[in-house]
Amino acid sequence: MALRTSPVMQQHRAAKNAYPDAIVFFRLGDFYEMFEEDAVLCAPLLDLTLTSRNKGKPDEVPMAGVPYHAAHGYIGKLLGLGYKIAICEQLADPSTVKGIVPRDVVRVLTPGTVTEGEHLPAHENAWLVGVDVAKDGVGVALFDVSTAELSAARFPDVASTLSALCRAAPREIVLGHAEANADDSSVTGALDGVLPRTPVRKDGALSAEEVSEILGELTADARDLTDAELRAAARALRYARACSPNRAFPVRRIARFSPAAELGIDPVAERHLELVRSLSGEKDTTLLSVVDRTCTSAGARLLRRRLLAPLLSVARIRRRLDAVELFVGEARLRASLREALAKVTDLERLAVRASLGEATPRDLGSLRDGLLAARDAVRVLEGVEDAIARETLDLGTEPVDVVQELADELARALVERPPAIPREGTVFRPGFDAELDEADALCRHGNERMTELEGRLRESTGVGTLKVRYTRVFGWYIEVSRTQAQKVPAEWRRKQTVASGERYTLPELDDLADKIAHAEERHRQRELGLLSALAEKARAAERRIGALSERLARWDVASALADVAHRYDYRRPEVDEGDVLELIEARHPVVERLAAAGRFVPNDVRLDVEGERLFVVTGPNMAGKSTLLRQVALAVVLAQMGSFVPAKRARIGVVDRVLSRVGASDNLARGESTFMVEMRETAEILKKATRRSLVILDEIGRGTSTFDGLAIAWAVAEYLDAAAQCRTLFATHYHELTALAESSGHVANVSVSAEEVDGDVVFLHRLVAGPASRSYGVAVAKLAGLPESVLSRARALLLALEAGTAKPESAPVGKARATTPQLDLFAPKVPEDPRVKEVADTVRAVEIDRMTPLDALSLLARLKARLE
Ligand code: ADP
Repeated sequence: MALRTSPVMQQHRAAKNAYPDAIVFFRLGDFYEMFEEDAVLCAPLLDLTLTSRNKGKPDEVPMAGVPYHAAHGYIGKLLGLGYKIAICEQLADPSTVKGIVPRDVVRVLTPGTVTEGEHLPAHENAWLVGVDVAKDGVGVALFDVSTAELSAARFPDVASTLSALCRAAPREIVLGHAEANADDSSVTGALDGVLPRTPVRKDGALSAEEVSEILGELTADARDLTDAELRAAARALRYARACSPNRAFPVRRIARFSPAAELGIDPVAERHLELVRSLSGEKDTTLLSVVDRTCTSAGARLLRRRLLAPLLSVARIRRRLDAVELFVGEARLRASLREALAKVTDLERLAVRASLGEATPRDLGSLRDGLLAARDAVRVLEGVEDAIARETLDLGTEPVDVVQELADELARALVERPPAIPREGTVFRPGFDAELDEADALCRHGNERMTELEGRLRESTGVGTLKVRYTRVFGWYIEVSRTQAQKVPAEWRRKQTVASGERYTLPELDDLADKIAHAEERHRQRELGLLSALAEKARAAERRIGALSERLARWDVASALADVAHRYDYRRPEVDEGDVLELIEARHPVVERLAAAGRFVPNDVRLDVEGERLFVVTGPNMAGKSTLLRQVALAVVLAQMGSFVPAKRARIGVVDRVLSRVGASDNLARGESTFMVEMRETAEILKKATRRSLVILDEIGRGTSTFDGLAIAWAVAEYLDAAAQCRTLFATHYHELTALAESSGHVANVSVSAEEVDGDVVFLHRLVAGPASRSYGVAVAKLAGLPESVLSRARALLLALEAGTAKPESAPVGKARATTPQLDLFAPKVPEDPRVKEVADTVRAVEIDRMTPLDALSLLARLKARLE
């Protein structure tokens, strides 16, 4: 026999069937309940108690719930984890409905389509990414529904797509194939590999007609976009609309972003350089945390985007630098601009919320404040007279559109601080709308008349404690305590008995209550009408507000970078197409901030593709090798994003890609050994490095045996020098590598210096020419607190090793004494074989210039035979 489900559970089932991939938040009274698999999934995630509905009955189901007024926090958490949530609401007031309350899904929230400020990071874009995979390339669209920005690009293959996606850090991905029936398991697998926490939604077929229907008028100014790009944009839009059919997401335009015009920063390099995320998870150790001194949210988002996508075009870089330089030179202008910008609210997101009809009165108030502050900011800059400066600031002869009439209208309409919810306070200024004022007067008048009535009734009955009160459920009533109830006139009608007394009504009260209710309803209707008229005006101005916001964001970024330059003494880099990367007295932007004032030691570096292009950097642990490597890469990132750099002087021949492999990686969790990860990352670097690239390698080969490690490090360095010919900084603990400089004119040895004073190491952090003289390992070990007995034994062993004798005199404590091994690591592993010597001698005697290839081959065969 089929189990009979209750009507409520049938409603739930219907909601779940309509949104099978969403967690259904099912409204039951004051709670949102989750049932069945949703409850089982969410209870541990949200730290809720898993209970059950219909306990002990055949239709018992797991259940977990959250109070509706606290739902935001739980929803935010689930969105953060990548889940989709369907809100199933009660569509009528339960107190007015007989039988079961109708319920339906009113809203689907997903990480990539929410627009509520509390679910969005203010200083980051929230990308919903459309991906369209076709045989001849991959279209990618980045859509931020909260700011109406949509841009698209085409990538040649999945690998390059992944790398771009990593940088964008999407909140949600919509993936579809151009060809029907294509197998996408490899793509989803790859996505899962690089973005394990990002939800990927599968999208079905998409015809050309559908694309143009979805994009509508957007296609008009997107004519130079390829089909793959248009399809990707259409996928993102279609998904957003499907999640929220009743929300018409505005889109400003479809812009094109061009990965080929950007400095390539691989995901590995991005992580290692801690551009926007730190390896440790601490916030203030990223480059972004140091240079983000923007005043507005839109500015912060723009700066972040620029940091992750620096430019290649010298002309464009210089243009950005010009703007920064202008604000560095004009301290007063900068200060006034920043003062105005500090009051500019998140115009882009507010305009979108207004155009979705979701702006609260408070949002509209913020929009007003933001627009007025924007006007002040524009005024500050429009005072600039110098023609060149005006061009740098992108100020034409036409005045900047500050959406004045909307700002004025909002200023006229709204009170100083409008409430978040209309019912919770006054929204409009008195005098703004006659009809609203009238309804307001009626409401207030009604309330006054109630007070009057209360006074009169007290007098006529002689009950001093008589009260005229209102509750939402019971409406207006007169309340008299039980002991006084006998004084009540007979014609009063008793309504209700409560603990505190008796409640009555009478025709005069009912009349008045009716008038008040009417006036309130009229007031409410009028207020909502006026609000939506205002929102409509904001909606109509959405694009203009967006354009204004974009302009302000650019000024914000330029003036913020100028502020950084001024505050921390950064200088304008000379950026050109040349081969040289020269930094004079350069510092690490983050380490110098964390170091005590004045303690950071600046260094000079000069890499030249045509000259010394590969530096082998040696020096003791903790001397500052990694810091040096990173500071060079960071200077390139900063310069090419259009920022000044932490150096006295900098010349940067544009770099096409920053490739890095630094320190141990954190992929261990995925079951790969450190060495495997290291080699995989190194392989990527060798594959991608071009003559224009900057490669920084730290401690290659550490994860394996010394011979293997040295051999690999050596071969990698040779390859970078001879084949890739790129600018490279190669930090290593293999001193043997310093011999490379003898065989290649493009390799130089440098070291980060330290001094040993009475067995203690003192780091000077200064980069000097030539290899490090010794490793100071024992001294560092002492610093780290190794016991004295171990240290003195290590010193003795070290002496023996350096002298080439492998048998130190003094023996260690304990048993190891008897079995002191051969310690010279680079002595041959096997006893000398006479045949090996013979072969070696033969090879040494060969005159290669005089041999034909055939001679060489036959000699090789003979040598091989001899060895066997
Ligand atoms: P290595 O890579 O040689 O082991 P690191 O680059 O990790 O050394 O630097 C070790 C520490 O020394 C860092 O934590 C940093 O605080 C400090 N340091 C590095 N370079 C400098 C410098 N130029 N001036 C001052 N302190 C520095």
